[in-house]
Amino acid sequence: MTVVAGSGTGTAPDALRARFDTGVTRSYRWRRAQLRGLRRMLREHRDQWHAALRTDLGKHPVESDVAEIGIVLREIDHALRRLRRWMRPRRVGVPLVLAPATARIVPEPLGVVLVIGPWNYPLQLVLNPLVGALAAGNAAVLKPSELAGATSAALAALLPRYVDPRAVRVVEGGAEATQRLLHERFDHVFFTGSETVGRIIAQEAARTLTPVTLELGGKSPVFIDDTVDLAVTARRLMWGKLLNAGQTCVAPDYVLATPSTAQALIPHLERAVREMYGDDPARSPDYGRIVTPRHAERLAELLDGHRPSFGGTVSPADRYVAPTVVDAAEPHSRLMQEEIFGPILPIVHVASAGEARAFIRARPAPLAAYVFTRRRAVRRAFLRETTSGALGFGAPAAHLGAPELPFGGVGASGHGRYHGRHSFDTFSHARAVLRKPLHPDTMALAYPPYRGWAKALLVRVMTGMGRSAP
Ligand code: NAD
Repeated sequence: MTVVAGSGTGTAPDALRARFDTGVTRSYRWRRAQLRGLRRMLREHRDQWHAALRTDLGKHPVESDVAEIGIVLREIDHALRRLRRWMRPRRVGVPLVLAPATARIVPEPLGVVLVIGPWNYPLQLVLNPLVGALAAGNAAVLKPSELAGATSAALAALLPRYVDPRAVRVVEGGAEATQRLLHERFDHVFFTGSETVGRIIAQEAARTLTPVTLELGGKSPVFIDDTVDLAVTARRLMWGKLLNAGQTCVAPDYVLATPSTAQALIPHLERAVREMYGDDPARSPDYGRIVTPRHAERLAELLDGHRPSFGGTVSPADRYVAPTVVDAAEPHSRLMQEEIFGPILPIVHVASAGEARAFIRARPAPLAAYVFTRRRAVRRAFLRETTSGALGFGAPAAHLGAPELPFGGVGASGHGRYHGRHSFDTFSHARAVLRKPLHPDTMALAYPPYRGWAKALLVRVMTGMGRSAP
């Protein structure tokens, strides 16, 4: 079933385009009003968001405040403080051969954009892109994930009351609803989700040459050596892994460590879990749930044939998967072949930091990589010899809290970037504007016939070389 929230007639993008074409969305006032509206919606309905996120993913309100509502509020405040500056055309220089002339880069809204969201951070991952889209003066259709139904319904009910309903629509539904939307004309598609669906989106968008941002996932590795404080490392690691019960795109997916570091690390990991979630995480109000029983069953299958160091309990009916660590995981096992997206942490043994880098390089580029070491040379080698959307030294997932840093993947983990100014740029067209007076007609230098000293001078200036043979 598809539900469209908002007002107006016709297909969602057509109605929004009519609004965009009036030019109203271009003004600073309109953009500021939308961002303030979003902020009010988040603040005034905090309890409703908490309840929806608890229903969808068992999220504790503090986790919802920090990783969903809070991240978007900070993004809004960041944008509001800088919006005027971002919108300003930027004067750039022109080479002497073009003088006299002035050149500017003018940011323009793209038009009507489509934001498709996943279920794991169902609020943050549609609203954060929306902040960028509205700051850049666009109209937008949001397609939240059907698997986070409570959050999707709340968005559809509340958003039209707080932002211009003729410029922002929520379309609820699953794959068919998204496919139908992709047959409409959009000026940009911003997709967050799996690599498999990312390919479908890119193919659909290619038919109409619509540019896409693909925020995908992957297996984000962690390297740990024996120079670090393993107690703190274990706490940070398990916090990043168990946030949202492991269903976080930048969660540490697996650890690379020498057998002796792994052996020393495991008791710290177990202690960290106990400190955060008690002896039985199933009873902890702070521990989240897997989105559906089917997703929990997939995690159980990933554990088939493994003997966990601790954890391992899976109860699909309760959507519960215990925090689990699997030591000496086989690189060819299914656990190490697909993105885990759950609270299971395999440790793969390597002989050295160099072998860990080779392991990462031999696999698709991940969304994030994390390195825990006190050795500067090791940090530099990871920076130089591996690639990933982001690289975190000493802290998983923390980079996404810094709006000045671009957030996005590389290679198989996606392309394009957002957050802060990067969102504004993603949803803007950087239009090149050059103005040159008609008099004096300095361009006469370039007109045929191609003879004489003036042409020789032009060629020398442009190429740095003498005149080519006729
Ligand atoms: P998904 O790809 O299954 O779904 C994402 C969206 O696509 C949903 O709105 C869904 O309705 C829609 N969709 C599903 N099948 C479709 C189809 N055949 N045609 C058109 N649309 C379709 O992803 P998910 O399971 O919701 O999210 C998990 C994935 O997202 C993981 O791989 C994770 O790493 C990734 N992710 C990435 C980021 C990031 O910022 N890079 C953030 C969160 C999640």
